[in-house]
Amino acid sequence: MKRKLFLLYGGKSAEHQVSIRTAFAVMQALDFDKYEVTPVYITEEGQWVKREALENPVKQLNDLIVKPTKEEQNSLTLFNNSAIISNDEPPVIFPLLHGTNGEDGTVQGLLEVLNLPYVGNGVLASSAGMDKVIMKNIFAQAGLKQVDYVSALRHEWEQDKEKVYRRVEESLTYPCFVKPANLGSSVGINKCNDRTELEDAFVEAFQFDRKIIIEQGIEAREIEIGVLGNDEPQCSVVGEIVPKAEFYDYKAKYEDGNTALIIPADIPEETYETIKEMAIQAFKALDCSGLVRADFFVTKDGEVYINEVNTMPGFTPVSMFPLLWKHSGLEYSQLIDRLVELGLERYNEKQ
Ligand code: ADP
Ligand code: MG
Ligand code: MG
Repeated sequence: MKRKLFLLYGGKSAEHQVSIRTAFAVMQALDFDKYEVTPVYITEEGQWVKREALENPVKQLNDLIVKPTKEEQNSLTLFNNSAIISNDEPPVIFPLLHGTNGEDGTVQGLLEVLNLPYVGNGVLASSAGMDKVIMKNIFAQAGLKQVDYVSALRHEWEQDKEKVYRRVEESLTYPCFVKPANLGSSVGINKCNDRTELEDAFVEAFQFDRKIIIEQGIEAREIEIGVLGNDEPQCSVVGEIVPKAEFYDYKAKYEDGNTALIIPADIPEETYETIKEMAIQAFKALDCSGLVRADFFVTKDGEVYINEVNTMPGFTPVSMFPLLWKHSGLEYSQLIDRLVELGLERYNEKQ
């Protein structure tokens, strides 16, 4: 019998478009003889639109964007699905969602409540990994080396901006990076070289979140590694990102395509060992399962700092995470198979 697989994509998030592209790529790579594939599109308003299972992959990206019908004008479509409430084997849900309302534990929580197996990280890892302040606090507790950081709430900033800026300047030096705490894809992130830029960056970052993080800027190479597994996570080879822009911003990630991904990254064996160790430590510290991409800074003198983990990393065939695994011997479609297996393994452990 075919394995039922629901692809969950779109989403109420800044990374809506990226998610559609990912769903398209995953669909093309799936073996339709092995899986019964059902697309579930989440509109930008947050409505869930479930289609019938497909016979073949859709031909164009736009075919994945479906408007809800009148009857579907409630976001509980998924709950009403007979496959879910019957005794049939439940579908495995593959949330191809990045950022808020997808990668942050909210969808994972819904799937837990529905008692459905799903691919990737659970509620705790997803939500802790999405909040850069919480994530860094956990890394600090685990003894992982990272850059210094300060956090700020919109509320305190609105009450006394000068005080918050001074707090930043007492702890960090320029350049520093200002980021919304809960986002990804470099949205709302700015590098600041002085007070004026810091003030502008605060205004922008607070448009996206009530909490922001300010980090010490570091001059370093950006090295990333893939981690795959549940209780015995394995590491891929490492890759390097060489952005043409001043840093790896949203445009560099998704628009200009000029950013070079070098796989495997040319780093000393010893540095690779350190990165592997730190990646596994980070995976365990956040209680991850399934997958993460762990991102590091490596300075000229070989110091390794963890930057972040992404619990649902970019997942098109030309994204870093799948490419890292390809270079480690796992093709895109095999990687998808493995992720489905890992999701089921975790689900079955809990039953
Ligand atoms: P996102 O989760 O959106 O990817 P990151 O924290 O990875 O956010 O930041 C995006 C990019 O900004 C990084 O890939 C890097 O190029 C740059 N960057 C972020 N923080 C720093 C830092 N502390 N020092 C130097 N560069 C940074
Ligand atoms: Mg990120
Ligand atoms: Mg990043």
